[in-house]
Amino acid sequence: MRVGVPKEIKKNEHRVGLTPTAVREYVAHGHTVSVQTGAGLGAGFTDEDYTRAGAELVADAPTIFANADMIVKVKEPQKVEWEMLREDQILYTYLHLAPDPEQTKGLLASKCAAVAYETVTDARGGLPLLAPMSEVAGRIAVFSAAETLLKHNGGMGLLFCGVPGVAPARVLVLGGGVVGLNAARMAMGLGAEVVVLERSIPRMAYIDEVTNGRVITRYSSIGAIEEEIVKADVVIGAVLVPGAEAPKLIKREHLARMKPGSVLVDVAIDQGGCFETSHATTHEDPTYTVDGVVHYCVANMPGAAPRTSSEALNNATLPFGLALADHGLEALKKDPHLARGLNVLKGEITYPAVAEAMGLSW
Ligand code: NAD
Repeated sequence: MRVGVPKEIKKNEHRVGLTPTAVREYVAHGHTVSVQTGAGLGAGFTDEDYTRAGAELVADAPTIFANADMIVKVKEPQKVEWEMLREDQILYTYLHLAPDPEQTKGLLASKCAAVAYETVTDARGGLPLLAPMSEVAGRIAVFSAAETLLKHNGGMGLLFCGVPGVAPARVLVLGGGVVGLNAARMAMGLGAEVVVLERSIPRMAYIDEVTNGRVITRYSSIGAIEEEIVKADVVIGAVLVPGAEAPKLIKREHLARMKPGSVLVDVAIDQGGCFETSHATTHEDPTYTVDGVVHYCVANMPGAAPRTSSEALNNATLPFGLALADHGLEALKKDPHLARGLNVLKGEITYPAVAEAMGLSW
């Protein structure tokens, strides 16, 4: 199969669809891979890295789109990209179609087969191609909180890890899923006192086990939240209710009870945020303060680490991508988890939540 990797064109997107390591695997499977010149530079991969891995370099995106049987990307196609897609072509990338009718219509018009990373499943009911970005975001959340706690960044002037004789930060994590556990373990590693509030009892047992009881778990109730926020120096919001907007667990009136200069990191901001006072921010201007509490609500946290994020994403996307390249759409018949990734085929929506969002009955 001819596989094409265009340079990402969405603003501030520096990740790349295939790393040189992944290209080598596709080439070893007998596929030809065309990579747009400079596609990997933002993630630290040079054109030479790609040619060494067996890719051919192509100067412009239209040539990549014109000659590929499968396009591998990171972000959803922009208008200029979906207009280049065509029937008999596979698109393999993050799509997030439900809130994006314009893109959905564009993909339908192209008649391409669009496989979305975010709806591919695994045997445990998880979303294996979303998990790597949650791992990155959970870990970045702790670095960002530690930075924001410093005085010159608007925080209370507390050193996250403390020093001998002075207590470290107390960190409250709301939601102990992939983001939450990664944040909790990172905070624990930096010496913080960590409490995770969760609703899933098996998940709390798991967190207790993997952290050797060093992370305190509590059932997430209104009372537990109210008790914990007054003690916290940092609160990391990491809840997810699949398919729904994030529940607003911290209300505006709670802020006045929190320590002045404490920090809220709302990782769930991409689902609307779990603090009532959250609104999305950017890496360029990541924080703002409400009632003395500093808010960090960057909607694209993994974007700060395109190198790590590209590699982690490729580790997860590679086996499914190779199956698509080896077998074409037949791969969907062989693997029901990959089949759940198919969102659009031959001008039809093939994923229930996207159909519902477009007002179509399923
Ligand atoms: P996940 O499904 O692995 O974990 C969510 C957890 O929240 C689950 O364990 C669930 O039991 C728990 N939960 C649900 N309701 C709760 C409540 N009321 N109180 C406490 N816990 C509750 O999801 P995840 O992969 O960890 O993602 C978490 C959020 O982070 C999502 O909104 C995701 O989209 C977002 N995210 C954001 C970025 C970013 O850059 N901002 C990056 C990656 C993920």
